[in-house]
Amino acid sequence: MHNTAELQAARGQLVTYSTRLVDDGLAVGAAGNMSVRVGGTVAITPSGIAYHELDPADICLVSLDGEELDATESPSTELPMHLRVYAATDARAVVHTHSAEVIALSTVCPELPAVHYAITGLGGPVRVAEYARFGSAGLADAAVKALEGRTAAILRNHGAICYGATLAQAYDRAVLLEWLARVYRLARGYGQPRVLTQAELDEVTAEARRRRYGQRRPAP
Ligand SMILES: [Zn+2]
Repeated sequence: MHNTAELQAARGQLVTYSTRLVDDGLAVGAAGNMSVRVGGTVAITPSGIAYHELDPADICLVSLDGEELDATESPSTELPMHLRVYAATDARAVVHTHSAEVIALSTVCPELPAVHYAITGLGGPVRVAEYARFGSAGLADAAVKALEGRTAAILRNHGAICYGATLAQAYDRAVLLEWLARVYRLARGYGQPRVLTQAELDEVTAEARRRRYGQRRPAP
């Protein structure tokens, strides 16, 4: 198999972030799952092992069409959803959470509106995907549809899915999404929240890009 060192690193990272998933309250027990893509191989957390007991050797390696390449445990039941995201986007890492704020929101709202400009980091207001059973092809389809033009989607009565260029970025997006859902819930306690328009979000994106370009100052 190619990229052995990179895959070993990915296995270690997945164990580290799995522990954080529980510690940060984004999932309980063995719920939720995450993966990293290295070339044509996907390293994914196994099904049914409590995160605090996870070892790098338990991380499963599968091909982009789901064939097990190196797996002592069963790959996560949401493997089809992870593979569909890799097929449909330029994702290099996928994080699937069962976090309380987004699930609560998903039972009532069709989307998470732009209550804070940081939502531009997820591509804009975050859609709630249609409900489909865990592990099903229908859920994978619904997730990919809700992800169009976004790096995050909420899964109705289930959780959330985020992706990024690295596992750190995908994970940070999952944390941001949960925080935004919390802000929205708090705002609704005061009344009907004012939300940012698409023009206001576009202005934020343009300014963030301009500042990134201007980051390096010339030497004195
Ligand atoms: Zn799930």
